[in-house]
Amino acid sequence: MTTKEMYLEAGISKEVYEYGETILEQLKERFSQIDAVAEYNQMKVLRAMQKNRVCAEHFAATTGYGYNDAGREVLEQVYADCFHTEAALVRPQITCGTHALAVALSANLRPGDELLSPVGKPYDTLEEVIGIRESIGSLKEFNITYAQVDLLPDSSFDYEGIKNAINERTKLVTIQRSKGYATRKTLSVKEIGELIAFIKGIRSDIICMVDNCYGEFVEVIEPSDMGADMIVGSLIKNPGGGLAPIGGYICGTKECVDRCAYRLSAPGLGQEVGANLGILPAFYQGFFLAPTVVSGALKGAIFAANIYEKLGFFVVPNSTESRHDIIQAVEFKTPEGVIGFCQGIQAAAPVDSYVTPEPWNMPGYDSPVIMAAGAFIQGSSIELSADGPIKPPYAVYFQGGLTWYHAKFGILMSLQKLVENGVIALEQLSN
Ligand SMILES: *Cc1c(COP(=O)(O)O)cnc(C)c1O
Repeated sequence: MTTKEMYLEAGISKEVYEYGETILEQLKERFSQIDAVAEYNQMKVLRAMQKNRVCAEHFAATTGYGYNDAGREVLEQVYADCFHTEAALVRPQITCGTHALAVALSANLRPGDELLSPVGKPYDTLEEVIGIRESIGSLKEFNITYAQVDLLPDSSFDYEGIKNAINERTKLVTIQRSKGYATRKTLSVKEIGELIAFIKGIRSDIICMVDNCYGEFVEVIEPSDMGADMIVGSLIKNPGGGLAPIGGYICGTKECVDRCAYRLSAPGLGQEVGANLGILPAFYQGFFLAPTVVSGALKGAIFAANIYEKLGFFVVPNSTESRHDIIQAVEFKTPEGVIGFCQGIQAAAPVDSYVTPEPWNMPGYDSPVIMAAGAFIQGSSIELSADGPIKPPYAVYFQGGLTWYHAKFGILMSLQKLVENGVIALEQLSN
């Protein structure tokens, strides 16, 4: 059986398959640039592991307090060296990205301080951390205030507004790299660097933290190379490489990371405790694979942007613009578009491929949401996954793919479902 026949047997029609191949023909140059970034980042990770003399003993499990956990200490040094920071906290006890960000914020802010977001509204879950939405234990409850400066209509920084917003209480600035589920564009590391330089120019002691979720290894530099005091992210996204089953990281200056460690465990204990429970092989190996995994996810995002843009849908980022995270949004303008797309992604999954996702009223959302995820790790969004709220403009957000080939199959299957449910006419594929 040929590869094409394998696709046909898996339910992809000849027209959809061939449409995909024509799109791919035009992406060779793009893909080779992505491979070059992955190659560079692979060397970065590899060299950090060699420098720290990673060895089999570092994979051993520890229990109880976890004192003298060499594997944990070396892993943190590998992260620090790879991202060029003084220190790193990389722990399974950090339960998710939101937790990592909450630790970084609450560890470095004190009552009376002000937090500033100069890039508009932060990721949804941070609203409760900060207290934008009332919540038990929020920064607001500890008398830490919040200020926000939105991006200008063209997505550039409102430097004047930022300057005016900074006052003597401004202690920490939070910069979200990825657009998340907002409509603004994702920031490049270079743009983040310019913003940090501007802020440090006003007052050099303001702590600059970057929410790096979905951004790791997309470029050859990270925000920590451009002056960020802390970069923060989730291990069930890019840096876990699909293997880490839980966890988060905070990399940055020793002062900032120390405070995070004392907040995460307890004052006086800090980084010295935290048994690894045998999870370290997945952390090491996942980090080792992460540059390649991210490159596959990026190829999938670009493939989808090109497929759907050429079929007349609005896609963010568009088919040609440079990438700074792995998220792709496609606006379908109809519920059927969102539903068909998600059902295709689900049908292409290695796990739970036989279930059909339907929109449901999820707690905390103001409209039904449909989600597709057939993942090895629950909720992992470095694995191929998609979701969309059933409300205008009927946009679907999708990301991930542990291998490019799986991402390709998922996107072809999404297109197949949209042909089958009549959102896309077969004739549109033979332009
Ligand atoms: C995913 C994400 C978070 C939160 O991470 P969780 O692991 O879902 O808690 C925060 N910020 C951004 C930009 C994200 O993409």
